[in-house]
Parts: sequence; C-alpha cells; structure tokens
Amino acid sequence: MTTNTSDAQKGDPDPSVEPAQLKQFRPSGRSDWSYVSDKDWNDWKWQLKNRVTTVEQLQKLIPNLTPEEYAGAKLANTKLAMAITPHFFSLIDVEDVNCPIRRQVIPREEETHTASWEMSDPCGEDSHSPVQGLVHRYPDRVLFLVTDRCAAYCRYCTRARLVSNATGYDFHAEFDKQLDYIRKTPSIRDVLLSGGDPLLFSDEKLEFLLSQLRAIPHVEFIRIGTRIPIFLPQRITAELCAMLKQYHPLFISVHSNHPRELTTEVRDALGRLADAGIPLGNQSVMLKHVNDSPEIMKAHVQKLLMCRVRPYYIYQCDLIAGSAHLRTSVRRGLEIMEQLRGHTTGYAVPQYVIDAPGGGGKVPVNPGYVLSHNADRVVIRNFEGKVFEYPEAADGTPLHEAPKEIIEPEFA
Ligand SMILES: *Cc1c(COP(=O)(O)O)cnc(C)c1O
Ligand code: SF4
Repeated sequence: MTTNTSDAQKGDPDPSVEPAQLKQFRPSGRSDWSYVSDKDWNDWKWQLKNRVTTVEQLQKLIPNLTPEEYAGAKLANTKLAMAITPHFFSLIDVEDVNCPIRRQVIPREEETHTASWEMSDPCGEDSHSPVQGLVHRYPDRVLFLVTDRCAAYCRYCTRARLVSNATGYDFHAEFDKQLDYIRKTPSIRDVLLSGGDPLLFSDEKLEFLLSQLRAIPHVEFIRIGTRIPIFLPQRITAELCAMLKQYHPLFISVHSNHPRELTTEVRDALGRLADAGIPLGNQSVMLKHVNDSPEIMKAHVQKLLMCRVRPYYIYQCDLIAGSAHLRTSVRRGLEIMEQLRGHTTGYAVPQYVIDAPGGGGKVPVNPGYVLSHNADRVVIRNFEGKVFEYPEAADGTPLHEAPKEIIEPEFA
C-alpha cells in the first residue's frame, strides 16, 4: 500500500507517522490556555466564550501564520466567520503549516478564488425548500435546519451561505412553520435536525423540539447531525444525555475527518452518548492535505470504531465557492475506498457519496467490483483483484415470497 506516487504534493501526510501513532488516544492538551482552571476548561460555555475569532488572536497563537492564512482570516467575516474552540485549537500543530486540523478551520486567501462551476448552494437546498429551514428532497425524510450557529466553522462548509450569518442570510429560528409542514405531511417518517449545530441549543430548547417531533405520529425516526462532540466535547453532559435518551429511536451523526480529532475527551463524550443508547454514525468529508490518504483514512475509521461510532458516509467535497484548495479528485477518493473495503472491518467502511450538484441528492460512488454482468453470469473481483464468476438466476424467477409481516412490521 503506497500513499501516492504520481501526484505526491506538498502537504501530503508525513509518511514517517505510523498508523499506530495516528490511532493513539491523547488528551487535547491546552496549548496556550494552560493558566485556565479545569472548571473553566471543562465548561462548554467557557469554551464558546473563548473561541479564537480574530486575526490578532491567530497571530499570537501561531507564530508562523502564513500570508495566505493572514489574508484569509482578515476576509473571513465577510463570507464565513472564523471561530475555533480552545479545545479544537489545541489540536493544531502550530509548527506545521500543513497541519490537517489547521486546514479545516483556519481561513485561507484561496477561499476568495471562485471557479465558474462553484456555487453558494451547491446541493440546491434552497430550491428544495417547501418552507424556510426545511429541505424536502427525499419523499420520506426531511432535513430540518434549526440554527445557523456552530461551535466552530469548517472552511469547506456546504452551508456557508447560511451558517455563521456572515453574509446576512435571513435565518429565522421560529419552528412553527417547519413543524406544521412536518405535521401535515404524513410521508415524512424521518427528521434530520441539522443546521448549523442543534447541540448548541440549551437542553430545554432542544427538548422542546424533540418533544414536538415525537408528538407527531408519523415521525418514526429522529436524528441529529452535529460536530459538537468533536469541537466541544464538554457540551455532552450527563444532563444532555439523560434528556436525549427519552426520545428514542434517536440516532446521532457526528462529523470528524482526521484521527487526531478523536482525543480522549471526544472518545469519552461519544461514550456518554452511546451509553444513552444512541447509535452513532460519522460523516467525513474527503479533504486535500487532511485525510486524502489511505493510511490516514484507515486509521480514522478504525479509531471511530474504538469510539463506538460507525463510519456512515464519506462525502466528496461539495462545489462550495472557494473550496478548490481543499478538494481532492474522485479518482483519489475511489482509490482510498479500494484500500478500505476488504482490508479492514466491514463496519469501519463508510459509503463514499457525491451530493449531486444542483440538488440530485447523495449518489453512491464505488470502485468497480462488477467486471461484467449479462443474462447468465456476473463476473466480479475481490479486494485482492482475484476474479470470480457467479451464475445469474433465470430472469423473472422470484427468489422467494417474503411473509407479509416481515414487509410491514407491526409493533403497536
Ligand atoms: C443527507 C440528506 C438527508 C439524509 O440522507 P440519508 O441518506 O438518509 O442519510 C435527507 N435530506 C437531505 C436534504 C439530505 O441532504
Ligand atoms: S459543523 Fe457542519 S454546519 Fe457547522 S460549519 Fe462545520 S460543516 Fe458547516
């Protein structure tokens, strides 16, 4: 297994870093906040209040801040705000200009370069929105954008147009219209709370939303998309977990991209959610100089399992304006997937997807394991490249008749 040969570039993962080292759990450390008391450090409100938001703070904290970062940070608040929690900031290797944590949250001048195929709403969410704050793209489920705030801002955010409110997007956090639409649309059985980050709400506000949704008979399944366990693990309190567990079946999708993000604090926060009976999935974005190597990705998905999180999706980076410097090729993405499937635990292998530009939804992209397929045989290859044949069943022969109660489960 090689990292790369032909397209090796500056900033590729350091080959001297052993996968075993990548997988070690370490506390976040406190870099420049060593004077802070444990009580403050472990208080999520202190973490939010003390986020790194200005170029002056960056200059103090990062001696080798590059001209690209300086220019990016100066401009950030006109596009997507900069905000980094002290917890997450402490994961940055300030000596390394190509640090994978740094790339995700410190703006760069390249964000102002926009190609003609890039968009401010790359997944066409606004055009699939029956009422503001709801995206209804798939018949049986909706995306409910409950806030425009996050604990920290990812430079490649597909919702940069609305999160952080740097561009004056008109975001209303009243939920009446959205809840009404869900109540009146019986085809919706799955509600995905996202934003922004729903776990930034107080327990009371979040509980109000969850209880309103649970009171709708056709809403079977609720999930929350959040990066809080990674950016602000202190927010995952015992009280929050006790509240969440009353609204099962409730799933949570977290967002982590690099093994270094999975610190002991993050592992423990995820453990508290898992102990509350919440199944956890992870969504990663394939990002240049962050996780675009098989070694990093494999260490990351294996470390996620150690945190009781099932890798769910790896997204090809959306065509969000000013993200070219963070995007990798789909070819590279497929090569990485090829190094996962069969080479590690099946539970560790996420589905690689492209969210179709303009609003087609998530489309799975896979390395080609089916070499040919005709009326009487399928030719397949395995993870080692060995070729096998499977005889195709005669066309139209039903495999079996499933008993009706298996098709329509009745729990009532
Ligand atoms: C991702 C997404 C969902 C959820 O999709 P799953 O494949 O069920 O995880 C729902 N609605 C929208 C608009 C989405 O982007
Ligand atoms: S946490 Fe999610 S919504 Fe918030 S900035 Fe990052 S990608 Fe965007």
